[in-house]
Amino acid sequence: MKDKTGTVYLIGAGPGDPGLLTIKAKDCIEHADVVVYDYLASPFLLDYAKSDAQIIYVGKKGGDHTLSQNKINLLLVDKAKQGFDVARLKGGDPFVFGRGGEEAQMLLSHGVPYEVIPGVTSAIAAPAYAGIPVTHRDHTSFVSFITGHEDPTKKDTSMQWDVYAKSNATLVFLMGVKNLENIVKNLIKHGKPSDTPVALVRWGTTARQQTVTGTLENIAERVKQANLKSPAIIVIGHVVSLRDELSWFDKRPLFGKRIVITRARAQSSGLVSTLSKLGALCIEIPTIQIAPPEDTAPLKESIKNIKNYDWLIFTSVNGVKYFFDTLFDMGKDVRALGHLKFACIGPVTKERLKDYGIISDILPETYRAESVIDAFSTLGIKDKKVLLPRAKLARTILPEELTKMGARLDEVTAYETRLNADGKEELISLLENNEIDAITFTSSSTVSNFISLLELKEAKKLLKNVVTASIGPITSDTARSFDIEPDIEAKEYTIQGLVDSLLTYYESRK
Ligand code: SAH
Repeated sequence: MKDKTGTVYLIGAGPGDPGLLTIKAKDCIEHADVVVYDYLASPFLLDYAKSDAQIIYVGKKGGDHTLSQNKINLLLVDKAKQGFDVARLKGGDPFVFGRGGEEAQMLLSHGVPYEVIPGVTSAIAAPAYAGIPVTHRDHTSFVSFITGHEDPTKKDTSMQWDVYAKSNATLVFLMGVKNLENIVKNLIKHGKPSDTPVALVRWGTTARQQTVTGTLENIAERVKQANLKSPAIIVIGHVVSLRDELSWFDKRPLFGKRIVITRARAQSSGLVSTLSKLGALCIEIPTIQIAPPEDTAPLKESIKNIKNYDWLIFTSVNGVKYFFDTLFDMGKDVRALGHLKFACIGPVTKERLKDYGIISDILPETYRAESVIDAFSTLGIKDKKVLLPRAKLARTILPEELTKMGARLDEVTAYETRLNADGKEELISLLENNEIDAITFTSSSTVSNFISLLELKEAKKLLKNVVTASIGPITSDTARSFDIEPDIEAKEYTIQGLVDSLLTYYESRK
């Protein structure tokens, strides 16, 4: 127990796109001792919390309140009184139908200091991501935010249907999906033209965004047909017609495509962010775990004797990382490598090496081990001593060919790849429910590990309606060895090449 009362920050976490969090909110999450969040706050934001912060989920999905509002209030007070600074994350903006006002009043009454950090409200952002500006000089000069949650049979209603119906304001209803029929009925009854444009935007600003448009007359039917559920924003007014012209978010080339990423989590961020920017919903199911080798002695021994080598060859970014980790652990630095020549397979490996201040002498034209051999054949490595730190159980073609060329080769294990089965159940359930559009394979081991998650006999059946994308011929061959013919093979054997070929694939199917 600390002797000072903590502060509660009522934070607008934005509508879903993690990029729409404010800088102030991020700063606040980073420093909080306790983070309290609910259903509408994007779980990505929790990554900003301190590693020892208490993270508390308080639910609230429609009627399902994991903790009642009263209990949430008491929790906030209790944590603050214990001296903790509390980040209370609320979807969108805390003071727009977020009960933030009530939480602030309650904190005040308990003498708990608080601050409010406004957020990007879904009432504006969801329409914006659907290409609908809530105001526009040619269409309307004002906008109303209205609760769509009010019980239609309530006697003392605060709903002013005649006012909403007669004004030319853009009407934005929150929490209104279940009540949609009732909302449109009332507006028409009070004189709003039945051809007034309407849009519903579900999970706005996220890769799951779904939009249904229509008129007051037909929207309820269309929403039913599309099976669109909560949470969604209902926008009513002439600005909705601008969507035809202004939609942008759902026009991105991979919009709505659910793509599984199988590579190790530590390496997936580049692929995930590139695909996400193109609109895809990335589902990370890492099939590989990268770890230091069980026996680190051989790598250490070769680093101890590094003076005796002429060449150092890296075939992957992991090889680079684990080599340098070990070098630094041994109290040495890059000066120990000054006499060496370097070769890297692939531009990404080369870039990683450059991070350590070293420019590779050789970069093969293509990124397969075979072309490294071509590159070496012009450089004469006969009788040269070569160190090759790489994965345990890596392919043998490179060492074989280098030895044929007369190199005196030492191959050492710099890291190991292991099967990661954590995502097995999620993967199978997604496949069984047809919730995956494509799967990316970025190495042979992602394929073989993926197959061992599924168990061979099921794999072909489960992948029937799924597009499989391979980073290059070697990975494709591994897939074929399991009787899976990749639908896509990258032309350039890099992550960008893989993304490009996915784009081409979906482009050609439009
Ligand atoms: N304070 C929040 C609103 C909370 S009320 C804000 O400012 O956004 C909850 C309602 O917000 C939901 O029923 C839904 O109507 C709307 N909502 C929240 N996030 C949404 C999203 N990403 N897309 C569409 N509607 C959303």
